[in-house]
Amino acid sequence: MTHVLTVFIDGLKFESLKYMPFLNSFSQKRKIWTDLGYSVACHASMYSGVRPNKHLSWFIWKYSPDTSPFKWINKLKIDRLPHNAYSKYICYRISSLLAREEVTAFTGIPFLWNMPLKDWHYFDLAEKRYWTDPRYMENYPTIFDILTKNSIEYDLVGMPVDTRLSPRDIRNQNRALREHNPREIRPWTYLFIGYIDLMSHFYGQDSNEVQALLKEIDKIVEQKYRFFEEQAKDFVFFLFSDHGHIKINQELDLYSLFKSSGKQLEDYIFFIDANYVRFWFKNEREEKEIHQVISKLDGKGFILTSDLLRKYNVDMPDNRYGDLIFYLDAPYIFGRGEIVVMGKRRNPVIVSMHGYRPDFPCYDGVIVSNKPLLDEPYVKLVDIMPSILSSLDIPIPKHAEGKVIWK
Ligand SMILES: [Zn+2]
Repeated sequence: MTHVLTVFIDGLKFESLKYMPFLNSFSQKRKIWTDLGYSVACHASMYSGVRPNKHLSWFIWKYSPDTSPFKWINKLKIDRLPHNAYSKYICYRISSLLAREEVTAFTGIPFLWNMPLKDWHYFDLAEKRYWTDPRYMENYPTIFDILTKNSIEYDLVGMPVDTRLSPRDIRNQNRALREHNPREIRPWTYLFIGYIDLMSHFYGQDSNEVQALLKEIDKIVEQKYRFFEEQAKDFVFFLFSDHGHIKINQELDLYSLFKSSGKQLEDYIFFIDANYVRFWFKNEREEKEIHQVISKLDGKGFILTSDLLRKYNVDMPDNRYGDLIFYLDAPYIFGRGEIVVMGKRRNPVIVSMHGYRPDFPCYDGVIVSNKPLLDEPYVKLVDIMPSILSSLDIPIPKHAEGKVIWK
């Protein structure tokens, strides 16, 4: 039986292979064409083999007042009281506790500290379950569901990953990978390395800090690869990432943009993601006003028109992700302000971002394999699931939109 060893490194740029001598020594490497969006969209595509307009996981938050974990705050009219960082945090903690049974997602329930409390109750998580949970996706089975159904065993190493890792915790992450030396190799082994994305946000992927981590990971992957060479006669190996990383050099302040036009951003229903702002209109007047203000950002980004939504496979069946979605291009992000508690800034400064359009220059992920890859410049995220299934001799479901990456 063929064994499959896959390694995932969140946010590894194609260009960063130069810091990883072992991985760079493979002749078979390609760029990964990412999805428009963040990890929520990328992981759903990787594990389901269908694009965002089918699996419908695009952003962490969607408009859904009826199911929002913050519904109670509005019902009790708590959101009409004046609030500060402390009272917001208390509301957030209570909501998290109330929803703890229901939410097992990788991101958990993020703290919406930069959003007005009065608007929290409009929003719910688009994805409530963890990737490996059988209820992760409503419409499509994931690679994990399909393997379980086919009674194929797999080993997940390094999952789940705590997204609040501090640089100090990183050593323990590597330990989990190093200490994985099973007596018997399962058909599929999946090593998950989540912290390169996080560290790249804080330091930039070309920083000395991240370069050192990449060198360390390269050594660990080499050890795992050699272990597989000894243990398994024939095995398929590939390492992949979901997107690149881009240094940002300017934060734009939407609040002042609206103010300079004589409007208040807080008067509208909106959601700011790092480089997107999404609006839901209460009436035509609002629609007009928002268009007028947002058009001042022309040249720094653009409104995702229905043509663009289709082009990037993120056209949705309803307005859950916004009536108007403005995309901000690199090297910009929207400023989120600071959380200052007891005189200390609590949110780290971000120097590098992702979530940009897949056709932005030098923003590709990477894939490296020990088998000859198709002669095409890109591998897509939806190709990951069919490729693993085919290596394990499991039929690829008809609905899969990706293809096997090897010749
Ligand atoms: Zn990230």
